This record gives sequence, structure tokens and C-alpha cells, in this order.
Amino acid sequence: MQDEIVKSLKESGLKITTVRTRILEILNISIKPLTVHKILSEIDVNKTTIYREIDILLKAGYLNKVDFGDGNKRYELSSLDHHHHLVCIKCHAVEDVVLKETLFNEENLISLTNKFKVSYHNLEFFGYCHNCQ
Ligand SMILES: [Zn+2]
Ligand SMILES: [Zn+2]
Repeated sequence: MQDEIVKSLKESGLKITTVRTRILEILNISIKPLTVHKILSEIDVNKTTIYREIDILLKAGYLNKVDFGDGNKRYELSSLDHHHHLVCIKCHAVEDVVLKETLFNEENLISLTNKFKVSYHNLEFFGYCHNCQ
């Protein structure tokens, strides 16, 4: 995987730094979106650096921002297939979910009806996981 990350960074023209590679690696291993705090706990750099690096990776299209409405921004790799999340209100477990119907038709309809050009959407489901019901 590290080879792939390095190759991809090279192709995108971004400098290959240890921190950059490490952030992508950590997110790649994780099965759920991570907060900056969590990423920070796995790398030995300061806060300013991590925020700057995440911003760079976000702008370069490597990351997606995920919002679970708890005031923490989370990040995941944008190379994942389009999916949504099931978030447990009680234990905060997060699961990926793929919808049977894509929302792209809805997006087109919204664009037409509201004259609003949709770039992307975020949709997460909140409730109780199997263990917490
Ligand atoms: Zn739960
Ligand atoms: Zn996800």
C-alpha cells in the first residue's frame, strides 16, 4: 500500500513527505473516518502541521470530509466507493453502508428544480447499532 500511496502522490505532483504518506496510510488502515485528534495520536508531529497537511490532501482530492454532527470533522480516503454511514448514537460505532438507489438522480432533479448545481452530498444515518438496541 505504501508503494501505491507514494506512486499516487508522485503522479499528483504533491511532494512525498513522511507525514503525508503516513496520514494516507493511517486512513487506509482505518475502517471508519478519523478525527484530526485520532490521526494526531498516531503520528509524532504538531497540530499545526497535521491541520496543514490534511488541508493540502483535502484540496488535492485525497480525502473526504465527513460530518457526524458532533462538532468533530472526520476524514476518510476519497478513493473509497461512494457510501454513507450508519452512526450509533450510543456507542458511536460507525459502519459503511451502500444505498441500493444512488442519489445521483435526486441530485440531477435538485439541480433542475432549484437551479442549484450540486457538487456532492453527505448523508449519514443515526440510530442504534445491533449491540445497543
Ligand atoms: Zn452502539
Ligand atoms: Zn466511510
